[in-house]
Amino acid sequence: MKIAVLRETAPGEARVAATPETVKKFIALGATIAVEAGAGEHASIADAAFAEAGASVGDRAATLSGAEIVLGVQGPAPEGLPRGAWVAAGLNPFSERARVDAYAAAGVEALAMEFMPRITRAQSMDILSSQSNLSGYKAVLDAAAEYGRAFPMMMTAAGTVSAARVFVMGVGVAGLQAIATARRLGAQVSATDVRAATKEQILSLGAKPIFVEAVKGIEGEGTGGYATEMSDEYKVAQAELVSSHIAKQDIVITTALIPGRPAPRLVSDAQVASMRPGSVIVDLAVEQGGNVEGAVAGEVVVRHGVKIVGHRNVPSRLAADASALFARNLFNFLSAFWDKEAGRPVLDAEIGDAIRLTKDGQVVNPRLTGAA
Ligand code: NAD
Repeated sequence: MKIAVLRETAPGEARVAATPETVKKFIALGATIAVEAGAGEHASIADAAFAEAGASVGDRAATLSGAEIVLGVQGPAPEGLPRGAWVAAGLNPFSERARVDAYAAAGVEALAMEFMPRITRAQSMDILSSQSNLSGYKAVLDAAAEYGRAFPMMMTAAGTVSAARVFVMGVGVAGLQAIATARRLGAQVSATDVRAATKEQILSLGAKPIFVEAVKGIEGEGTGGYATEMSDEYKVAQAELVSSHIAKQDIVITTALIPGRPAPRLVSDAQVASMRPGSVIVDLAVEQGGNVEGAVAGEVVVRHGVKIVGHRNVPSRLAADASALFARNLFNFLSAFWDKEAGRPVLDAEIGDAIRLTKDGQVVNPRLTGAA
């Protein structure tokens, strides 16, 4: 069983889908590993380190030749993928639908790691969690770097510097890590979410929950612990509450996503204008349409004296750790299903059917075929 690890080709992608650690572990399972030359360059992993771990290193064609599983951080180009191979990566199935069709046409079995079900046994395989966690951390550091003031309160001989007020909107994996990171830097932190269950989590991290009460549809939780689209009544109440709160904040970090839909708009231009000049907003949902009006993917823009940070692919900005965790997610996934006799992984229906996008030349995933 040969596993191929390709060099990422998407602009700005610095991560890699395997590390010397996971290469060794795959070899221990009985697999052979081929890594495309330069695959780890931007994640500080030299070709020699992969070779030392036991991988063969070569060009793309040699890497793919005879491979039965192809690993990627993002979806590889369909050209040259061996027919019948599995392609396990973050495939962005909703926005890269044409490429999914191309995988079907190429006869590969595309496995979208971001469709991993949110069940306990799959936690260690979940790329959304591992990467969001790092994004939440990095968002706070990016905010701090753009902010012309300090985060912690400082009492100095020259006078007191007051603590930054940080407001986190969307308290999933990224939001929780943003709260924890901002707290560690000494900020005064508050947070909000549509899922009522997050209130306890916010309190447990020493932050202040900001919540709309007594409005229909407050639960906000749909399947798999994800958020649902909220009622209009809720949206109005939330906008009012947030407006008065946001005007007093120095830093706002937004992380709100709804799977398969554009990100919900949480901050309007008028709300941006209400913040004091020099404040910073980081929009982690900018690539899914943005939580913040005026945010631009890939740019730091200034509106009404407020910096709106819209970095793309934030996990890639911590490429070494992001790769290490992504690679472990892939290893945990494939090894959990490893069938010793077959010498390869054999998926079960619960996880296999959730993540499989294409098989035998067809797009088969119900979330894409509309059968979900
Ligand atoms: P996400 O990235 O889909 O969304 C980020 C957050 O934005 C969520 O908390 C969501 O409720 C919130 N949000 C959506 N619309 C909003 C709005 N209008 N206003 C404010 N907030 C809004 O979420 P996530 O980080 O993937 O986590 C979702 C849940 O899934 C969490 O409870 C998490 O702990 C759970 N989870 C479980 C597993 C597992 O069991 N394997 C893995 C990962 C996450």
